[in-house]
Order: sequence, then structure tokens, then C-alpha cells
Amino acid sequence: MQIGKHTVVTFEYELRDDMGVLLDASTDSGPLTYIHGLGRLVPGLESALEGHAAGETLEIVVPPESAYGFHDPARVDVVPRTTLDPSGDVSVGMRFESRTERGIEVATVTALEGDNARVDANHPLAGIELHFEVEILDVRAAVEGEIDHRHVH
Ligand code: ZN
Repeated sequence: MQIGKHTVVTFEYELRDDMGVLLDASTDSGPLTYIHGLGRLVPGLESALEGHAAGETLEIVVPPESAYGFHDPARVDVVPRTTLDPSGDVSVGMRFESRTERGIEVATVTALEGDNARVDANHPLAGIELHFEVEILDVRAAVEGEIDHRHVH
């Protein structure tokens, strides 16, 4: 069976950036299963899988505009550390929820600059060209209820 709208697809993947650095892989979490055509994957990956079948291994390159978008400098702020933690005990990689004019956002501390912290509310993969290696393990038709519930049974 070929991957098409409302097929249920199981695949293993490795995700690297354009320098070859491993960003994510299914080896830790196990194979990913999703219902095709519901927008569960980044658009460029989902469209590239269309028409392929179990047993195939694919190299798929997804540009930022078909993945997590471009890095927006307006979503980077430099704030006093004490606004993030009263004691100023802040380190790179910490994530904070903040209320902005765009609503509640999760921002990551990307650098410390003296008493200030640089926080970035972009998606961590914004602006990154995604290099997937995908091995399709299984493709089947959705069973009753899966489409209505929008999840795999
Ligand atoms: Zn259900």
C-alpha cells in the first residue's frame, strides 16, 4: 500500500541539520506512527512521504519554509536575569513561559551576558534545513474511529 490520505504510516527516522549534526532520532522513542493527511508532520516531510511504501528508505531535505519557518530576530530579547528567576540563577538551555503581545510563549535562554540573559522564543528548529533519513516500516488503511478521533488506535 502506498502512503496517501488517511493511511496510517509507521516509520523510523534520523533528523540532522545541514552540517550533519544529529538533532533527533526514533531510536530513543521507537518508531513514529501517524495518520497521513492530518498535518501531523512538518508539511515538507509529510508531502515527501506521499506515494511511498513500506520497505523504502528515503533521504528527504526540508527547507525552513516547509518546516518550522525562519528565525525571527524580533522574537529574541535580552532581559535582566532576575526577571526569569528572582535569585538570577539562570543557565543556558533553561526554558521559560512568558506572556507577550503574541500570547503565552515558551522561550529558551540561549546566552548569558553579564546580569542579562538572551531569550529566544523561536521554535528551536526555526531557520534550520532539516535532513531526514526515513525508513518506512508499515503502511495500512485507517481503521474505524481513527480519522474521527484524529489519532492512531
Ligand atoms: Zn480514539
